[in-house]
Amino acid sequence: MAAAETDRDAPSALCSEFLNFSAKDTAAKWLQVSNLPKEVYQHLACYVPKIYCLGPNLNPQNEDLLAQLLLQGPLEWYLCGEEPSVGLSKLEQNNQPSQLCGHVFKVGEPTYSCRECAADPTCVLCMQCFLGSVHKEHRYRMTTSGGGGFCDCGDTEAWKKGPYCQKHEPNISDSSQKDPLANLSAEMIARTYNVFSIILKYAVDMLTWDKEDELPEGLEPPARGDMYYCMLFNDEVHTYEQVIYTLQKAVNCTQKEAVSFATTVDRDGRKSVRFGDFQFCEQAKSVIVVNTLQSTSTKPLAWRNTSRQTKPLRVQVMHSSVVAHQCFALKALNWLGQTIRYSDALRRILCQVGLQRGPEGENSSLVDKLMLCDSKMWKGARNVYHQLFMSSLLMDPKYKKLFAIQFARNYERLQSDYVKDDHDREFSVTDLSVQMFTVPSLARMLITDENLMTTIIRTFVDHLRHRDLQGRFQFERYTAQQAFKFRRVQSLIGDLKYVLISRPTEWTDQLREKYLEGFDAFLELLKCMQGMDPVVRQVGQHIEMEPEWEAAFTLQMKLTHIISMMQEWCASDERVLIEAYKKSLSALTHCHSGFTDGEQPITLSMCGHSVDTIRYCVSQEKVSIHLPVSRLLAGLHALLSKIEVAYRFPEQLPLSELSPPMLIEHPLRCLVLCAQVHAGMWRRNGFSLVNQIYYYHNVKCRVEMFDKDLIMLQAGASMMDPNHFLMIMLSRFELYHIFSSADCRKRYSRENANKDVVQQNNTLIEEMLHLIIMIVGERYTAGVGQVEITDEIRREIVHQLCIRPMAHSELVKALPENENKETGMERVIDSVALFKKPGVTGRGLYKLRPECAKMFNLYFHHYSRADQSKAEEAQRKIKRQNGEDSVLPPPVLPRFCPLFASLVNILQCDVLLGILGAVLQWAMEPSGGHWSESMLQRVLHLIGMGLVEEQQHLISSAEDYNDTNFNFTLKISRPGEAPANTASILALLETLQNAPHLEVHKDMIRWILKTVAYIKTTRECTASSPPSDSSGHSQEETVRDKEKAERKRKAEMARLRREKIMAQMSEMQRHFINENKELFQQSLEDLDPSTSSTLEHSPSSCDSALVCVGPRRWRAGGSDRRQVVTCILCQEEQEIRSDGKAMVLAAFVQRSTVMSKNRKRPPHNPDKYDPLFMHPDLSFGTHTGSCGHIMHSHCWQRYFEAVQAKEQRRQQRLRVHTSYDVENGEFLCPLCECLSNTVIPLLPLTKTCCSSEQPDLSQWLNITSHQMKALISAHRKSKASSAEAADETDGVNDCPPPDGFRLDHTPKNPYSSTIKEMLTTFGTATYKVGLKVHPNEQDPRVPIMCWGSCAYTIQSIERLLVDEEKPLFGSLPCRQDDCLSSLTRFGSACWTVSSHTTVQNHFIRLLAALVPDPRVENSPCILDVDMFHLLVSLVLSHPAVLCLDSSGLSADAAQLHFLHLITVAHVVQILLTSLPEEVRMEQETGGAEREEEESVCLLYNTLRSLLGRGLREVSSGWHLWLCVKAGILPYLRAAALFFHYLNGAPAPPELHALGAGEWEALCGYLCLPSNLLQLYFNNLDIMEPLLHGWCSHPALQALQSSVTLIRFPRESNHLIDLPGDYSALINQASSFTCPKSGGDKSRVPTLCLVCGAMLCSQSYCCQTELEGEDVGACTAHTFTCGAGVGIFLRVRESQVLFLAGKTKGCFYAPPYLDDYGETDQGLRRGNPLHLCHERYRKIQKLWRQHSITEEIGHAQEANQTLVGIDWQHL
Ligand SMILES: [Zn+2]
Ligand SMILES: [Zn+2]
Ligand SMILES: [Zn+2]
Ligand SMILES: [Zn+2]
Ligand SMILES: [Zn+2]
Ligand SMILES: [Zn+2]
Ligand SMILES: [Zn+2]
Repeated sequence: MAAAETDRDAPSALCSEFLNFSAKDTAAKWLQVSNLPKEVYQHLACYVPKIYCLGPNLNPQNEDLLAQLLLQGPLEWYLCGEEPSVGLSKLEQNNQPSQLCGHVFKVGEPTYSCRECAADPTCVLCMQCFLGSVHKEHRYRMTTSGGGGFCDCGDTEAWKKGPYCQKHEPNISDSSQKDPLANLSAEMIARTYNVFSIILKYAVDMLTWDKEDELPEGLEPPARGDMYYCMLFNDEVHTYEQVIYTLQKAVNCTQKEAVSFATTVDRDGRKSVRFGDFQFCEQAKSVIVVNTLQSTSTKPLAWRNTSRQTKPLRVQVMHSSVVAHQCFALKALNWLGQTIRYSDALRRILCQVGLQRGPEGENSSLVDKLMLCDSKMWKGARNVYHQLFMSSLLMDPKYKKLFAIQFARNYERLQSDYVKDDHDREFSVTDLSVQMFTVPSLARMLITDENLMTTIIRTFVDHLRHRDLQGRFQFERYTAQQAFKFRRVQSLIGDLKYVLISRPTEWTDQLREKYLEGFDAFLELLKCMQGMDPVVRQVGQHIEMEPEWEAAFTLQMKLTHIISMMQEWCASDERVLIEAYKKSLSALTHCHSGFTDGEQPITLSMCGHSVDTIRYCVSQEKVSIHLPVSRLLAGLHALLSKIEVAYRFPEQLPLSELSPPMLIEHPLRCLVLCAQVHAGMWRRNGFSLVNQIYYYHNVKCRVEMFDKDLIMLQAGASMMDPNHFLMIMLSRFELYHIFSSADCRKRYSRENANKDVVQQNNTLIEEMLHLIIMIVGERYTAGVGQVEITDEIRREIVHQLCIRPMAHSELVKALPENENKETGMERVIDSVALFKKPGVTGRGLYKLRPECAKMFNLYFHHYSRADQSKAEEAQRKIKRQNGEDSVLPPPVLPRFCPLFASLVNILQCDVLLGILGAVLQWAMEPSGGHWSESMLQRVLHLIGMGLVEEQQHLISSAEDYNDTNFNFTLKISRPGEAPANTASILALLETLQNAPHLEVHKDMIRWILKTVAYIKTTRECTASSPPSDSSGHSQEETVRDKEKAERKRKAEMARLRREKIMAQMSEMQRHFINENKELFQQSLEDLDPSTSSTLEHSPSSCDSALVCVGPRRWRAGGSDRRQVVTCILCQEEQEIRSDGKAMVLAAFVQRSTVMSKNRKRPPHNPDKYDPLFMHPDLSFGTHTGSCGHIMHSHCWQRYFEAVQAKEQRRQQRLRVHTSYDVENGEFLCPLCECLSNTVIPLLPLTKTCCSSEQPDLSQWLNITSHQMKALISAHRKSKASSAEAADETDGVNDCPPPDGFRLDHTPKNPYSSTIKEMLTTFGTATYKVGLKVHPNEQDPRVPIMCWGSCAYTIQSIERLLVDEEKPLFGSLPCRQDDCLSSLTRFGSACWTVSSHTTVQNHFIRLLAALVPDPRVENSPCILDVDMFHLLVSLVLSHPAVLCLDSSGLSADAAQLHFLHLITVAHVVQILLTSLPEEVRMEQETGGAEREEEESVCLLYNTLRSLLGRGLREVSSGWHLWLCVKAGILPYLRAAALFFHYLNGAPAPPELHALGAGEWEALCGYLCLPSNLLQLYFNNLDIMEPLLHGWCSHPALQALQSSVTLIRFPRESNHLIDLPGDYSALINQASSFTCPKSGGDKSRVPTLCLVCGAMLCSQSYCCQTELEGEDVGACTAHTFTCGAGVGIFLRVRESQVLFLAGKTKGCFYAPPYLDDYGETDQGLRRGNPLHLCHERYRKIQKLWRQHSITEEIGHAQEANQTLVGIDWQHL
């Protein structure tokens, strides 16, 4: 940086001083002095400024070295009294370490918690302890640590079972807790005490020092320099960008330096950005302050995200000596931390020193000082001392307690400081609370001795200041600043939770007293919440502004577990419970003391009953959804009932004070509010109310909201006359007027005034009926009904699964979690559900056990309306499938507890019967509006409940002959009372049974009638005489007849329904075809022989032997060649002809390293790279793929232009990206939306005639070499003549061409203009993408790239077929088949649009690699050439030479000769490279292939004689032949594919299957002898010279000895091996440090699945520049490792990342599953994860198929938000 270079002390002088220094002598001196502190301070004052902070450039290692020598050395000498290394190791040996592990977690390290044995979820183990513990066999949870915190192994309070791992198992022999100081000498103790107290005081003084230009007493330096630092502090307001920008301006540094400053400030909390004199620093400071004050509202990104007003960055100009001492103070704390590790005794002394009270009394210990200054210190300092606290105070059981007391005493102040501060909690000392409060014994002690519970609650309440007139919280007026504070203060709730998390097993009087005091404080808090955020119904106008509601709900949500825990504490002690109950009741009375005030009392009367109440309308007055005091009381009431205190000590309960109407009033209002919102009466109140209602029922809140309101209504109703209760309810629902009038049964003759009102009232009636059903029917809370907690959970699960089968995580989400994040599901799930494992996609599912379906209750209180209808449908369907009646009667319920027992009487009370009768009467009229289906359904359900109840009563009374006065059947058989002479309910039902408009309810009515009949019979039997068989029988009979008729009718209905469904199905099918055109298209293509691969299906017209290459090859007849395809865009048919309109195939060309055998090869320089010869390591290739969809070239062009135009408009308008890059020629296939970037033209098979006589190999070589000679000289001549100044002496001999070889001939291009255009288009695209260059159709490398892509694509598909264990032919999907065939044919035609001379030149060079030619320079050695690429290039470039020939040479002959030559070369290549070191002789006698073995031996020995010692002696021909066969097979298979597509010859059936015979079939198909060596030995005259030529290549000798030889066969690449257990990966990643920022932990460690590299992703530190842009580590890596395509695993997120280029990416499900068959993206659930091999293989297949980019495209199309992510920064 540009800061001033300083005039430092001359180093030499300093050095000599340092060299003469003796730590031992200094320590010896210290032992003598009387005032040791003064002496040490003097030493520090002298040396510290000389060592530290002499400017920004000093090497930090030097500083540490000097500090060790000059500062720590003497301290250690003094401490030990001898050579420190000796003394310390002695201490270590004598140490008896405690059993605590205490391993402090690094960021990202895996932690484990046992869900069965941990005292609470904060109890965790480190990986090592976990693996050695019993818990690894239990249900455990795995998470990644956020840093801080330590392993609880060895803490007996943290674990219910197995507190020790194997390593920390205590020794039984010395189990007695000894004082660690016992085996230390008194002198040693004294010395340690001296050193520790001086150094700790020094460090505390310096770290809490707040003067910029002065030092504490005794530390003033002997000679004072005047250099300063400009120190920048971090805050959580400014963004990285702001800071970087400001720094560049203020201290004039480069961006890189600014980034580095900013990173350090963010990490350490401060960083000096300038060093120099005061003025110099002051100037920088003012620039920073001014700039950061001005900079407004750029959105904060990486720094922290808070939305508060900007204040300037904090900057201080500090004297260098102050900074130096602060630096050493941190070192000194680290030193203390390290020193106490040697011995528990030293640790205890340090604790003692730290906690010793100073002369100032209260809070004067050094520990107190540090704590109380916490919020004033910078992040780095806080981290260091927190660390020291953790390794000292928190590790020593005695001092942990003392520290906890100090912490609790200072609690309020620490929290206030924290709330004012803006650092995250992990950087605050308050974060240590978890380490103490979760220890049950400490928590209990702090509650009783320090009144901690009350302190926490009071502190919390004090921080929430805004109250309304009644003293309730008011969050509405919060400013952003206050809202921010509110968020911070919520951490106190966390502390309260820690304190309460373990319930006491024994209560002392003191604990009772303090707990109840805390309970009082808690009630005060709840009282501030009771009735907060009230709402008033908006009529007329819509509300103007949505009122604030989230803060109140946040508070409620955070307190939910606390409220539950409070109740559980109470439940564990009767006395506490009774006291708490009294307190809650009086609090509630206090809240609503005046609830009748100002309300007009009224009297309600109905059905001969009357009750007094008040006039109150929810729809007109204030109502609040927040009633925590009532709900707490409701919870306690249920507990009283559960533990039966109410019956045993009724005298202790304030039962007489209970006023049931008061108890139910507010919960009832709340439920009415919900009903009215449902009925649409509160529409004008906006979404805030809708949201509140939603959360009120939501699983996160309902336990302490909705559920408790229901219990309160049950409690109230159980103490009231049911008729009174129902009348009050009717009144609150504002429905009283409807049912109270004498002629209510004729409702709508009076009241059809307003249709909306009728509709509203209908909904209200439905809701009210539902509420009655719940009040009578919800008995699954322990204390309300006679159930256990497990029954409750079981029932919840059953009802979830009644909706549909669900995954484990879905169930977890649907169930309330307790404070330990447990749902209790595991205990019961297997009793109600069956698990079904997932396949390669999807997840495992739980399905309801069929026998549990009988528990189904349609009106389950936790169902939403949507859930309810889904469940109803699903359950009816299942019943129908099982051939049962689809009626869903109410289930049998558990019995109420005695305190709630009277609730059943609601069912048979007069008011309810009146209501039921009225609705049934209304239902007589079919015309709409008067009643609703749901209303009737609920009424029938209620009647059903009455009957079920009666049945249960009958059963139990049969057992213990108690007189049961529950006689529902009697009641419903009686005619109505109030309006005289109305029909009884039973009579109404009998009438309704036949009403045609009630078809859907018939089965339920029938069920009711049947049950009534049954009950009556039972009653008669049990009451008097035995049942008269005959009557019962005849009744049965008629029922049976009826059922028969019914079944017939149903069958008919079913038939009609089936027909309807069939019609729907065919409609859906049409729809499906539209949506899945690709699939459909393909199947059509399969059927239609004219569209693709026609040739395979038709019989051969020529030879019967299937040969694909050479003069004898199979030839297509004229009709076979005809190929007609359909354009997907215009739907017109078109024949493929060379002179016709061009047809093209959408294609995607990409660079690939999938087959690379050398990922270390640096990328080529695109401008200079000569791609003519592919290296056998296949490090970079160009792959072409296609979705197989065909278009006219002009249709495609029009389409692409339209896409371009649309994209331009879109970019101007929205600046959003698409999943494809139009500027780079990308588009989506118009049919299947597959990503494409070019098109391949479709070409017909070239016509060839079989000319009879063809030269043999040696003749042909002879002719060809003549041709080459002539060509070369002709080329040179034209070059020379064009160069004008022709140099005659350069050896250009005129060489006459052989007969019929016309050098001046220009062949006619057979292709139409559109085809030519498309040939150029595809060629240029391949060139552009393959080399990453700008398109240039003239570039001589265009044809080479095309041939290369053809060869590479065929090779990769050959590999894929091997990997997938599929036969070579017949298993490729259509799209690949079409792609390969058009790619190959394109390859053979692409020379026509290039310069012929260029292609001829390529051919000359290619041939020279095979047939050495002195005139061609730089021919590669045969070990440097991939033979298949050579074959393809030779075959495809040859036409450019052949076209000059008119002597009748055929292309077929040439192809065969190329194949033979290259095959021999490949055999030689294999023999030279691929013999394994160890040759085993096990199977000496091969036998069957004797001839091959002998000839391969012969060739090998020839090679040995040519190359000498390079080759080992091998005696086994059998082995050699095996190697050759294995090595050459991939090449032969690829060649077979190539010639198959080039020449259209169908493949023999042996190659359509896997298994034996492949070799012979391949050789036959390729016209090769199955003994390949014959190719050599039958042409020895030409082969021998060639062999000599190859072996004499200068590069060969050198190459052969190198280690990086490519061996054949090249094995398929696979993705790296992953560990079976995911936590192994997390552990691996946690020790990974960012390679660029010196040992820092990486925040987003990301693993490359291709090569196994670990990267520091998504972080400034590891950004690099790539092609002029800053990119993250992953993107940069993809360019070297995957040619732009990458597959990564983000370890902390458990997420697979696909990247392609800089702009494309998507996340993909990881191959790790938990035991429930689910992935855990984001690692939120923490279930143990294990590798799923099938899924990993699927990812690997995507990669090998080159489908990653395509997958990204589809993902981005499906999810547009993926497009907006800055993938290049990952
Ligand atoms: Zn551990
Ligand atoms: Zn352990
Ligand atoms: Zn366990
Ligand atoms: Zn078309
Ligand atoms: Zn397509
Ligand atoms: Zn890699
Ligand atoms: Zn990094």
